[in-house]
Amino acid sequence: MGRKTDEFCVQCGCPGPLIGPVCSACYIEMEQPLKLPEYVDVEHCPVCHARKRKATWIDFEDMDQAVEDAVMEAVSIVQGLPDPVLSIGLRQQDKLVYVADVEAIFIIDDAEVAARAETTVRVKQNVCGRCSRAAGNYYEAILQIRTSARDLDPETMKKTQEIIQKHIAQRQTMDRNVFISKIEQVKGGTDFYVSSVGETRVLANKLADRNAVKVHESPKLVGRQDGRNIYRVTFLVRLPNVTIGDFLMIKQGPVMVMVATSRKLKVMGLLDHRVFSIENETLPDSKVFHKDEHIHEAVVVSVEPDGSELELMDPVGYQSRTLRIPKEYPEVEAGQTVKAVRIEDELYLLPWVR
Ligand SMILES: [Zn+2]
Ligand SMILES: [Zn+2]
Repeated sequence: MGRKTDEFCVQCGCPGPLIGPVCSACYIEMEQPLKLPEYVDVEHCPVCHARKRKATWIDFEDMDQAVEDAVMEAVSIVQGLPDPVLSIGLRQQDKLVYVADVEAIFIIDDAEVAARAETTVRVKQNVCGRCSRAAGNYYEAILQIRTSARDLDPETMKKTQEIIQKHIAQRQTMDRNVFISKIEQVKGGTDFYVSSVGETRVLANKLADRNAVKVHESPKLVGRQDGRNIYRVTFLVRLPNVTIGDFLMIKQGPVMVMVATSRKLKVMGLLDHRVFSIENETLPDSKVFHKDEHIHEAVVVSVEPDGSELELMDPVGYQSRTLRIPKEYPEVEAGQTVKAVRIEDELYLLPWVR
Protein backbone atom coordinates (compact mmCIF):
# COMPACT_ATOMS: atom_id res chain seq x y z
CA MET A 1 0.00 0.00 0.00
CA GLY A 2 1.03 3.57 -0.41
CA ARG A 3 2.76 5.17 -3.31
CA LYS A 4 5.98 3.95 -4.78
CA THR A 5 7.36 5.96 -7.65
CA ASP A 6 8.07 2.98 -9.92
CA GLU A 7 4.59 1.44 -9.54
CA PHE A 8 1.56 1.97 -11.71
CA CYS A 9 -2.01 0.67 -11.55
CA VAL A 10 -2.26 -2.56 -13.55
CA GLN A 11 -5.82 -1.65 -14.48
CA CYS A 12 -5.64 1.97 -15.65
CA GLY A 13 -1.94 2.73 -15.61
CA CYS A 14 -2.16 5.72 -13.29
CA PRO A 15 0.66 6.25 -10.78
CA GLY A 16 -1.29 5.35 -7.59
CA PRO A 17 -1.52 5.55 -4.67
CA LEU A 18 -1.98 1.84 -5.02
CA ILE A 19 -3.88 -0.76 -3.05
CA GLY A 20 -2.11 -3.93 -4.06
CA PRO A 21 -1.75 -3.87 -7.85
CA VAL A 22 -4.46 -1.28 -8.56
CA CYS A 23 -5.16 2.35 -7.74
CA SER A 24 -7.86 3.46 -5.26
CA ALA A 25 -10.42 4.25 -7.95
CA CYS A 26 -9.99 0.91 -9.67
CA TYR A 27 -10.02 -0.85 -6.32
CA ILE A 28 -13.36 0.67 -5.36
CA GLU A 29 -14.82 -0.32 -8.71
CA MET A 30 -13.47 -3.88 -8.63
CA GLU A 31 -13.59 -4.74 -4.95
CA GLN A 32 -15.91 -3.90 -2.08
CA PRO A 33 -14.16 -1.21 -0.03
CA LEU A 34 -17.12 -0.85 2.33
CA LYS A 35 -17.49 -3.65 4.86
CA LEU A 36 -20.69 -4.31 6.80
CA PRO A 37 -21.54 -7.44 8.77
CA GLU A 38 -24.55 -9.41 7.58
CA TYR A 39 -26.46 -8.53 10.73
CA VAL A 40 -26.24 -5.55 13.07
CA ASP A 41 -27.85 -6.11 16.45
CA VAL A 42 -29.21 -3.10 18.33
CA GLU A 43 -30.27 -3.04 21.96
CA HIS A 44 -32.87 -0.28 22.16
CA CYS A 45 -34.89 1.14 25.07
CA PRO A 46 -38.53 1.48 23.95
CA VAL A 47 -39.18 4.12 26.59
CA CYS A 48 -36.41 6.66 25.89
CA HIS A 49 -34.93 5.37 22.57
CA ALA A 50 -31.45 5.06 24.01
CA ARG A 51 -29.28 2.29 22.61
CA LYS A 52 -26.71 0.31 24.47
CA ARG A 53 -23.23 0.83 23.10
CA LYS A 54 -20.91 -1.56 24.89
CA ALA A 55 -21.80 -1.00 28.57
CA THR A 56 -23.38 2.45 28.32
CA TRP A 57 -26.70 3.73 27.10
CA ILE A 58 -26.59 6.56 24.57
CA ASP A 59 -29.66 8.76 24.00
CA PHE A 60 -31.39 9.12 20.65
CA GLU A 61 -34.48 10.93 19.43
CA ASP A 62 -36.16 7.80 18.10
CA MET A 63 -35.54 4.19 17.14
CA ASP A 64 -34.46 5.07 13.56
CA GLN A 65 -31.69 7.29 14.88
CA ALA A 66 -30.50 4.58 17.25
CA VAL A 67 -30.48 2.09 14.36
CA GLU A 68 -28.58 4.47 12.07
CA ASP A 69 -25.97 5.04 14.75
CA ALA A 70 -25.49 1.29 15.22
CA VAL A 71 -25.10 0.73 11.46
CA MET A 72 -22.62 3.58 11.09
CA GLU A 73 -20.62 2.13 13.94
CA ALA A 74 -20.51 -1.25 12.20
CA VAL A 75 -19.18 0.18 8.91
CA SER A 76 -15.51 -0.40 8.16
CA ILE A 77 -13.54 0.91 5.23
CA VAL A 78 -10.59 -0.86 3.63
CA GLN A 79 -7.39 0.79 4.76
CA GLY A 80 -5.51 2.97 2.35
CA LEU A 81 -8.59 4.69 0.93
CA PRO A 82 -9.45 8.29 1.74
CA ASP A 83 -12.26 8.88 4.29
CA PRO A 84 -15.56 8.68 2.40
CA VAL A 85 -18.76 10.65 2.97
CA LEU A 86 -21.26 8.11 4.31
CA SER A 87 -25.00 8.21 3.98
CA ILE A 88 -27.59 5.72 5.08
CA GLY A 89 -31.06 4.68 3.98
CA LEU A 90 -33.32 2.65 6.27
CA ARG A 91 -36.15 0.38 5.30
CA GLN A 92 -38.23 -1.03 8.11
CA GLN A 93 -39.07 -4.61 7.22
CA ASP A 94 -40.79 -5.59 10.36
CA LYS A 95 -41.47 -3.99 13.74
CA LEU A 96 -37.95 -4.80 14.86
CA VAL A 97 -36.13 -5.51 11.60
CA TYR A 98 -34.58 -2.96 9.25
CA VAL A 99 -32.62 -3.19 6.05
CA ALA A 100 -29.92 -0.53 6.02
CA ASP A 101 -28.31 0.63 2.81
CA VAL A 102 -25.05 2.52 3.25
CA GLU A 103 -23.46 4.56 0.51
CA ALA A 104 -19.87 5.77 0.63
CA ILE A 105 -18.60 8.49 -1.66
CA PHE A 106 -14.83 8.65 -2.06
CA ILE A 107 -13.17 11.65 -3.61
CA ILE A 108 -10.21 10.46 -5.67
CA ASP A 109 -8.35 12.87 -7.93
CA ASP A 110 -11.31 15.27 -7.84
CA ALA A 111 -13.66 12.54 -9.01
CA GLU A 112 -16.41 10.94 -6.94
CA VAL A 113 -16.31 7.16 -6.68
CA ALA A 114 -19.26 5.53 -4.95
CA ALA A 115 -19.64 2.22 -3.15
CA ARG A 116 -22.63 0.67 -1.37
CA ALA A 117 -23.27 -2.06 1.16
CA GLU A 118 -26.33 -3.48 2.84
CA THR A 119 -27.04 -5.07 6.18
CA THR A 120 -30.00 -6.34 8.17
CA VAL A 121 -30.58 -4.70 11.54
CA ARG A 122 -32.19 -6.70 14.32
CA VAL A 123 -33.55 -4.60 17.18
CA LYS A 124 -33.85 -6.02 20.64
CA GLN A 125 -36.14 -4.05 22.95
CA ASN A 126 -34.76 -3.72 26.44
CA VAL A 127 -35.82 -1.09 28.99
CA CYS A 128 -32.67 0.73 30.11
CA GLY A 129 -31.67 0.95 33.76
CA ARG A 130 -32.68 4.59 34.04
CA CYS A 131 -36.17 4.02 32.65
CA SER A 132 -36.81 0.97 34.77
CA ARG A 133 -35.74 2.88 37.90
CA ALA A 134 -37.92 5.85 36.94
CA ALA A 135 -40.86 3.53 36.35
CA GLY A 136 -40.30 2.07 39.79
CA ASN A 137 -40.41 5.56 41.37
CA TYR A 138 -36.74 5.27 42.30
CA TYR A 139 -35.36 8.22 44.25
CA GLU A 140 -32.40 9.13 46.38
CA ALA A 141 -33.56 12.53 47.50
CA ILE A 142 -36.72 14.50 48.16
CA LEU A 143 -36.86 18.20 47.51
CA GLN A 144 -39.58 19.68 49.68
CA ILE A 145 -40.84 23.09 48.69
CA ARG A 146 -42.77 24.75 51.49
CA THR A 147 -43.66 28.25 52.49
CA SER A 148 -43.30 30.29 55.61
CA ALA A 149 -47.02 31.02 55.50
CA ARG A 150 -49.82 28.48 55.50
CA ASP A 151 -50.13 27.79 51.80
CA LEU A 152 -47.86 28.48 48.92
CA ASP A 153 -49.66 30.51 46.32
CA PRO A 154 -50.19 28.63 43.03
CA GLU A 155 -48.31 31.20 40.94
CA THR A 156 -45.12 30.90 43.02
CA MET A 157 -45.41 27.12 43.03
CA LYS A 158 -45.86 27.00 39.26
CA LYS A 159 -42.79 29.17 38.70
CA THR A 160 -40.75 27.10 41.15
CA GLN A 161 -41.77 23.85 39.49
CA GLU A 162 -40.73 25.25 36.12
CA ILE A 163 -37.30 26.14 37.49
CA ILE A 164 -36.90 22.64 38.96
CA GLN A 165 -37.97 20.83 35.80
CA LYS A 166 -35.83 23.01 33.57
CA HIS A 167 -32.81 22.43 35.78
CA ILE A 168 -33.27 18.64 35.76
CA ALA A 169 -33.87 18.55 31.99
CA GLN A 170 -30.68 20.50 31.46
CA ARG A 171 -28.64 18.20 33.75
CA GLN A 172 -30.08 15.19 31.96
CA THR A 173 -28.25 16.17 28.81
CA MET A 174 -25.01 15.54 30.72
CA ASP A 175 -26.08 12.68 32.98
CA ARG A 176 -29.01 10.59 31.81
CA ASN A 177 -29.43 9.06 35.26
CA VAL A 178 -30.75 12.31 36.68
CA PHE A 179 -34.54 12.39 36.69
CA ILE A 180 -37.62 13.27 38.70
CA SER A 181 -39.56 10.09 39.42
CA LYS A 182 -42.51 11.64 41.22
CA ILE A 183 -44.06 15.03 41.99
CA GLU A 184 -46.42 14.98 44.93
CA GLN A 185 -48.73 17.73 46.15
CA VAL A 186 -48.77 17.71 49.92
CA LYS A 187 -50.28 19.97 52.55
CA GLY A 188 -48.46 23.29 52.38
CA GLY A 189 -46.35 22.59 49.31
CA THR A 190 -44.90 20.09 46.84
CA ASP A 191 -42.44 17.19 47.07
CA PHE A 192 -40.12 16.32 44.20
CA TYR A 193 -38.57 12.83 44.22
CA VAL A 194 -35.21 12.98 42.47
CA SER A 195 -32.82 10.20 41.44
CA SER A 196 -29.64 11.99 42.51
CA VAL A 197 -28.68 13.43 45.89
CA GLY A 198 -25.97 15.62 44.38
CA GLU A 199 -28.27 17.21 41.81
CA THR A 200 -30.99 17.77 44.38
CA ARG A 201 -28.51 19.56 46.62
CA VAL A 202 -27.44 21.83 43.76
CA LEU A 203 -31.08 22.55 42.94
CA ALA A 204 -32.11 23.20 46.55
CA ASN A 205 -29.26 25.67 46.97
CA LYS A 206 -30.13 27.39 43.72
CA LEU A 207 -33.76 27.88 44.81
CA ALA A 208 -32.70 28.98 48.28
CA ASP A 209 -30.26 31.54 46.87
CA ARG A 210 -32.88 32.98 44.57
CA ASN A 211 -35.20 33.51 47.48
CA ALA A 212 -32.53 34.39 50.06
CA VAL A 213 -33.48 31.51 52.34
CA LYS A 214 -31.62 28.53 53.78
CA VAL A 215 -31.77 24.83 52.89
CA HIS A 216 -32.44 22.27 55.61
CA GLU A 217 -30.84 18.96 54.75
CA SER A 218 -31.67 15.75 56.61
CA PRO A 219 -30.28 12.34 55.66
CA LYS A 220 -32.14 9.22 56.67
CA LEU A 221 -30.74 5.70 56.77
CA VAL A 222 -33.15 3.52 54.83
CA GLY A 223 -31.27 0.23 54.76
CA ARG A 224 -28.18 -1.61 53.62
CA GLN A 225 -27.31 -2.89 50.20
CA ASP A 226 -24.18 -4.81 49.23
CA GLY A 227 -22.66 -4.00 52.61
CA ARG A 228 -23.20 -0.27 52.27
CA ASN A 229 -25.57 2.02 54.13
CA ILE A 230 -28.27 3.44 51.90
CA TYR A 231 -29.39 6.98 52.68
CA ARG A 232 -32.16 9.10 51.38
CA VAL A 233 -31.74 12.80 51.82
CA THR A 234 -34.52 15.34 52.27
CA PHE A 235 -33.89 18.94 51.31
CA LEU A 236 -36.38 21.43 52.67
CA VAL A 237 -36.64 24.87 51.11
CA ARG A 238 -39.08 27.30 52.65
CA LEU A 239 -40.02 30.02 50.21
CA PRO A 240 -41.31 33.36 51.34
CA ASN A 241 -44.96 33.30 50.44
CA VAL A 242 -45.46 36.98 49.93
CA THR A 243 -44.64 39.05 46.92
CA ILE A 244 -44.45 42.79 46.74
CA GLY A 245 -47.90 44.29 46.68
CA ASP A 246 -49.56 41.50 48.66
CA PHE A 247 -51.56 42.34 51.78
CA LEU A 248 -51.11 40.81 55.20
CA MET A 249 -53.20 40.88 58.33
CA ILE A 250 -50.66 41.11 61.11
CA LYS A 251 -51.12 42.01 64.77
CA GLN A 252 -50.49 45.69 63.96
CA GLY A 253 -53.38 45.56 61.46
CA PRO A 254 -53.66 45.26 57.68
CA VAL A 255 -50.48 46.05 55.71
CA MET A 256 -49.18 46.02 52.16
CA VAL A 257 -45.79 44.40 51.42
CA MET A 258 -43.29 46.91 50.00
CA VAL A 259 -39.99 44.97 50.16
CA ALA A 260 -39.46 41.27 50.94
CA THR A 261 -36.15 39.70 51.98
CA SER A 262 -35.32 36.39 53.64
CA ARG A 263 -35.54 37.82 57.15
CA LYS A 264 -37.56 41.01 57.03
CA LEU A 265 -40.46 42.60 55.29
CA LYS A 266 -40.95 46.29 54.80
CA VAL A 267 -44.67 46.94 54.94
CA MET A 268 -47.07 49.86 54.76
CA GLY A 269 -50.03 50.07 57.12
CA LEU A 270 -53.28 50.33 55.18
CA LEU A 271 -54.90 52.61 57.78
CA ASP A 272 -52.24 55.32 57.94
CA HIS A 273 -49.96 54.42 54.98
CA ARG A 274 -46.94 54.49 57.25
CA VAL A 275 -43.96 52.22 56.44
CA PHE A 276 -42.32 49.89 58.98
CA SER A 277 -40.44 46.57 59.12
CA ILE A 278 -41.46 43.19 60.49
CA GLU A 279 -39.54 39.95 61.01
CA ASN A 280 -40.42 37.08 58.69
CA GLU A 281 -40.80 34.79 61.66
CA THR A 282 -44.09 36.47 62.44
CA LEU A 283 -45.44 35.45 59.03
CA PRO A 284 -46.75 31.97 59.83
CA ASP A 285 -49.37 33.60 62.03
CA SER A 286 -50.38 36.20 59.45
CA LYS A 287 -53.00 35.85 56.82
CA VAL A 288 -51.89 36.60 53.26
CA PHE A 289 -54.18 38.25 50.73
CA HIS A 290 -52.85 38.12 47.21
CA LYS A 291 -52.87 41.49 45.55
CA ASP A 292 -54.93 40.74 42.48
CA GLU A 293 -58.00 39.51 44.28
CA HIS A 294 -58.40 42.33 46.76
CA ILE A 295 -58.10 45.58 44.86
CA HIS A 296 -61.32 47.20 43.64
CA GLU A 297 -62.31 50.49 42.09
CA ALA A 298 -64.58 52.56 44.32
CA VAL A 299 -66.35 55.87 43.87
CA VAL A 300 -65.80 58.72 46.31
CA VAL A 301 -69.21 59.86 47.55
CA SER A 302 -68.06 62.85 49.55
CA VAL A 303 -64.94 64.36 51.15
CA GLU A 304 -64.82 66.19 54.52
CA PRO A 305 -63.93 69.87 53.95
CA ASP A 306 -60.82 69.54 56.14
CA GLY A 307 -59.63 66.53 54.08
CA SER A 308 -59.52 64.17 57.07
CA GLU A 309 -62.16 61.69 55.96
CA LEU A 310 -64.03 60.56 52.89
CA GLU A 311 -67.07 58.51 52.15
CA LEU A 312 -66.55 55.66 49.70
CA MET A 313 -69.13 53.50 47.93
CA ASP A 314 -68.22 49.90 48.72
CA PRO A 315 -68.22 48.15 45.31
CA VAL A 316 -69.32 44.96 47.07
CA GLY A 317 -72.74 45.41 48.61
CA TYR A 318 -73.02 49.10 47.63
CA GLN A 319 -72.93 50.56 51.12
CA SER A 320 -71.12 53.78 51.76
CA ARG A 321 -68.16 53.62 54.12
CA THR A 322 -66.37 56.37 55.96
CA LEU A 323 -62.58 56.16 55.81
CA ARG A 324 -59.83 58.28 57.33
CA ILE A 325 -57.61 59.83 54.67
CA PRO A 326 -53.91 59.10 55.35
CA LYS A 327 -51.59 62.12 55.45
CA GLU A 328 -49.69 61.41 52.25
CA TYR A 329 -52.78 60.55 50.20
CA PRO A 330 -53.32 62.80 47.16
CA GLU A 331 -56.23 65.21 47.06
CA VAL A 332 -59.51 63.65 45.93
CA GLU A 333 -63.00 64.94 45.32
CA ALA A 334 -66.53 63.56 45.22
CA GLY A 335 -67.37 61.60 42.07
CA GLN A 336 -63.79 60.48 41.52
CA THR A 337 -62.86 56.79 41.32
CA VAL A 338 -60.07 55.55 43.57
CA LYS A 339 -58.53 52.15 44.21
CA ALA A 340 -59.52 50.45 47.43
CA VAL A 341 -58.40 47.29 49.19
CA ARG A 342 -61.10 45.02 50.50
CA ILE A 343 -59.95 42.67 53.23
CA GLU A 344 -62.22 40.71 55.55
CA ASP A 345 -65.23 42.91 54.85
CA GLU A 346 -63.31 46.13 55.53
CA LEU A 347 -62.34 48.73 52.98
CA TYR A 348 -59.00 50.63 52.90
CA LEU A 349 -57.58 53.19 50.54
CA LEU A 350 -54.85 51.65 48.41
CA PRO A 351 -51.59 53.55 49.04
CA TRP A 352 -51.16 55.92 46.15
CA VAL A 353 -47.64 54.59 45.50
CA ARG A 354 -49.09 52.05 43.09
ZN1 LIG B 1 -6.47 2.32 -11.62
ZN1 LIG C 1 -34.71 4.19 28.64
